[in-house]
Amino acid sequence: MKSWIIYDMRNIFRLFIIITICVSCEEGDQETLNEKFIFNYNLHESLPDEWVSEFYTIIGNLENLIPATPRSYQDNMNIYSWVSNIDKPFKKHIGNTTGACICGNDKERYMVLEIPENEFKYNQLHRFSVIAHEYFHVYQMSLSESFFDGDIELKWLSEGTAASFESIYIQQFYGENYFLEAQSQVDVSAVNNPTIFEKFDLSSDKDTNYSSSVFIALALTKELQKNGKTEEEAFRLIYKDYWELNPSDDNWKQKFEELFTFSVENFYDRLSQYSNEISTVLPSEKLRIQDIFI
Ligand SMILES: [Zn+2]
Repeated sequence: MKSWIIYDMRNIFRLFIIITICVSCEEGDQETLNEKFIFNYNLHESLPDEWVSEFYTIIGNLENLIPATPRSYQDNMNIYSWVSNIDKPFKKHIGNTTGACICGNDKERYMVLEIPENEFKYNQLHRFSVIAHEYFHVYQMSLSESFFDGDIELKWLSEGTAASFESIYIQQFYGENYFLEAQSQVDVSAVNNPTIFEKFDLSSDKDTNYSSSVFIALALTKELQKNGKTEEEAFRLIYKDYWELNPSDDNWKQKFEELFTFSVENFYDRLSQYSNEISTVLPSEKLRIQDIFI
């Protein structure tokens, strides 16, 4: 690629023609994927320089630790970020979307990181952890087309993995226990009626900051360890291996039993023996992300 550009620099007009041809051929060629997953950054000037610098560090760390695989359905993504005291600066691209999400429409998915201004004022770790959370969803989508398509809800596992991953990231890189700081409000339903956490609309008022979903996901890693898995293996099973099975709303229970070797019903029964305290299911403070994803 480089060599023909240098060659054609001798003739600006010819270069223009070649670039025009190459742009149109890339657009028409559905088989051509980016070699690596590409993020396109749209970071608003309202964001403090210090945050922007940390943002790139975090994304770089995550790209090394859990690279998203380019897929035919998605090999790149726009990231839009700004501070909440600015009114929707990317409205022409993402409409009225606010908050933090992987959102989108039938044409594309994008990452939205609207950072509440208070998180800068009070130096809250969430301004960083949210990056790891949303990145994890991109990784999940690259493993599972059904997840990308929205064909699996299973909130306690889809959000419980992203939210626990964000805490493990904070533990490893900032030395703070974000599980105890922000994910400790576990509702009693997590142990006595866990089925409701399969659906967003049945459990939104019982899942502050996804605490209950995190609890259930962490309890699953404890049960896997009781069956002989190491802690790292247990997290790999829920963070990676399960999503590689591409579970959907129709078959997620079969895939669960196939991989974890006990049924969902059996797991829910086991949950009733727990108390709804996040402190009882915390991972080891020595757990390292690079040891989970090997
Ligand atoms: Zn999420």
